[in-house]
Amino acid sequence: MDFALSGEQRMYQQAVRVFVEKEIKPYAARVDEEQELRWEAIEKMPSLGLTGLQVPEEYGGAGLDSISAAIALEEIARGCGSTALAVAAHNGLCCNPIVLWGTTAQKHAYLPILTGGKVLGSLALTEPDAGSDLAGGVRTTAVKEGDSWIIDGRKMWITNAPTAPIIVTLVRTDAHSAKPSRGLSMIVVEHPTEGLCVDPPLSKFGVRGSHSNPLRYDDVRVPLENLLGKENEGLHQTLCTLDGGRVGIAAVSVGLAQAALEEAIRYVRERHTFGRPLADHEGVQFKLAEMATRITYARWLTYNAAWAKDHQEDFSKEAAMAKLTASETSEFVAFEAIQLHGGYGYSTEFPVERIYRDQRLMSIGEGANEILKLVIARRVLES
Ligand SMILES: Cc1cc2nc3c(=O)[nH]c(=O)nc-3n(C[C@H](O)[C@H](O)[C@H](O)COP(=O)(O)OP(=O)(O)OC[C@H]3O[C@@H](n4cnc5c(N)ncnc54)[C@H](O)[C@@H]3O)c2cc1C
Repeated sequence: MDFALSGEQRMYQQAVRVFVEKEIKPYAARVDEEQELRWEAIEKMPSLGLTGLQVPEEYGGAGLDSISAAIALEEIARGCGSTALAVAAHNGLCCNPIVLWGTTAQKHAYLPILTGGKVLGSLALTEPDAGSDLAGGVRTTAVKEGDSWIIDGRKMWITNAPTAPIIVTLVRTDAHSAKPSRGLSMIVVEHPTEGLCVDPPLSKFGVRGSHSNPLRYDDVRVPLENLLGKENEGLHQTLCTLDGGRVGIAAVSVGLAQAALEEAIRYVRERHTFGRPLADHEGVQFKLAEMATRITYARWLTYNAAWAKDHQEDFSKEAAMAKLTASETSEFVAFEAIQLHGGYGYSTEFPVERIYRDQRLMSIGEGANEILKLVIARRVLES
């Protein structure tokens, strides 16, 4: 029982859990092996609002508070890391900037498509030579020509790209700005569009069911009205979007850690050494105690960041702390879960090796943990 949650949030958690147990968890190994999401499950997600967690109801979303959105992502991750990453990126990275900065016309045009359960959307920030340093590094350009933007450049690691009908793209709209960080904008690119090429997915260590692709933009022409928000506000929009996304990744990390703990508990009850179940050895109990405690701590920091997202203008520090702690927790817990399985933990027969591989991304994506420490330190020094 989590006392931080309202009765309504607990009921929602239970509903998502039941859905995940039936539609997602039993297929997680297959999703990983075949490197393909289970679209039958995604098509059923709108009934629980999972494809529009924080999209207002008038555009087909669930209009949930941020704690409920975090609960949903945690539950999905408890069943399948690949599915959780795809859904987290769709909600946090693609729907969210459209909700925050889209005009009414843009919201009507894009959000009902995104919330319908047939597709998942993308956000394209990262480039072959720009990840942590987007402000200085983004080279993809958008130049005005008549009533269009002409976009040229390359993006890298774009989650959901092969099937995304909408790819929100970070571009340089002012190449001459004295400060490189001032010349960036977000533009909605519909897919397919002539000149936009989604290259084959990158082969990955984990979250293998979720596709991550390089993109090529060669003279891609989109209408001027596809600009999201104000011109040259793209860096601020990106940082805000990533703050929200980090709460989602923290929740996914907690879900993966929880899944690893549950697998470990099941195993140590069954496996015997020295005439007793593993669970009866004090050394094993110490491990379980630390795993459970660290998960609770990470979950509370995630709820704290989600609460701050709904109540504070600036929640960068809380989001960074949650993602940093939760991703370190999932690394620790998944490592220990494999350790408790002994040799079997190293086999693909048991879910813990997949969970370990899936969680490894969480300390890299949406701001590597080193960068999050810089974000936290800056806020601490400012205070
Ligand atoms: C599976 C997957 C899915 C992804 N999905 C998306 C997506 O949908 N959209 C998108 O735009 N991007 C996506 N990314 C990209 C991801 O956000 C970047 O990989 C991440 O931001 C790190 O950037 P980088 O890989 O370029 O690393 P770099 O920026 O090159 O950093 C490399 C290492 O150096 C460290 N480092 C960098 N600068 C400093 C510093 N000043 N001080 C200390 N350490 C530093 C970093 O922390 C990191 O450990 C995805 C990546 C993966 C692997």
